[in-house]
Amino acid sequence: MGLIPFKGLHLDEVHGALQAGGLLERGPLIAEQAYRGVHGQFAQRFSDIRGLSHRKVPRLEDTFSLDAISLESVHGADDRSRRYVFRLRDGAVVESVLIPRHARWSLCVSSQAGCALGCQFCATGMIGLKRNLEPWEIIDQVLQVSRHAGVRVAGIVFMGMGEPLQNEVAVFQACRVLSCREGLQLSPRKIQISTAGVVPAIHRFAASDHRMDLVFSLVSAVPEKRAALMPIQKKYGFHDLLDAIRAYADSRPKRHVTLEYIAIRGLTLGDDDIEAIQEHLVGFPFILNVIPLNPVAGSGLEAPGREEVREWTERLRPLGFPVKVRFSAGQGRLAGCGQLGATLL
Ligand code: SF4
Repeated sequence: MGLIPFKGLHLDEVHGALQAGGLLERGPLIAEQAYRGVHGQFAQRFSDIRGLSHRKVPRLEDTFSLDAISLESVHGADDRSRRYVFRLRDGAVVESVLIPRHARWSLCVSSQAGCALGCQFCATGMIGLKRNLEPWEIIDQVLQVSRHAGVRVAGIVFMGMGEPLQNEVAVFQACRVLSCREGLQLSPRKIQISTAGVVPAIHRFAASDHRMDLVFSLVSAVPEKRAALMPIQKKYGFHDLLDAIRAYADSRPKRHVTLEYIAIRGLTLGDDDIEAIQEHLVGFPFILNVIPLNPVAGSGLEAPGREEVREWTERLRPLGFPVKVRFSAGQGRLAGCGQLGATLL
């Protein structure tokens, strides 16, 4: 049997694997020490783990691999965010973005190498899908960035390369690992999963006991405009998406749903867009997170000015729902929303 990638396992699964190999005769201590070493000390080899007896190392090495993705480059931006570029063992490239949030750090991670959904405003979509990431490849983004930057990541957003709900099993396993008590100990509430609208997966999520938050890429509230910007709408219609969002909202009473709206000059900042928001976004409490477009070469779309966005969002204020404007972190270093993978085009 091949070695099991350690970084993709929850502590219970590490216990299970050691038990199955008859290697837990000295109790669960080995599993916990190894887990803390990899997820807390960011050890890259079992033999590097402080406090772990060297006699135990061969047992771990006979059962698990500690594979790593390869850090290729780091690009800092003026706002202190950093874009990390990783190469996977098959040569595919993924990116993560470390984002300062008040006194804490969030990490935007990739769930796929490339993406099949082809949103018009997104560089990753222009690459196309290379493949899904394994759970350990998602976790290793967090471990390597934490180690390199010397920070404790306090929140994770699945908003990097890929559509997380098209790699559901690996993403949910990664979330279990991120929340593990002997590992990174992230509350599921600190994990956000952004989806372009994979309707059946949203319904499954709403019916599950997952405690992470879903965030929805609405992009535009005018169905025809959204269809032009997001080809996924040909498969899952606008109203089906809204029904799925309502089901999700019903599964989380008293909590607002976050809708991401892309501000695009000449396209999504008109009177008709405000009317569509009023007409369609009913029946659930939401926050509208307005993200000014980050320019991507070849998209044919134009970024709005700050004043333009401010004026338009001011007109939303009387409508009675919270509106946030989020200028993307790291825009100057191609680390903003929709820009990941732009250097691969
Ligand atoms: S915005 Fe998200 S879903 Fe759309 S192409 Fe980009 S990575 Fe894929």
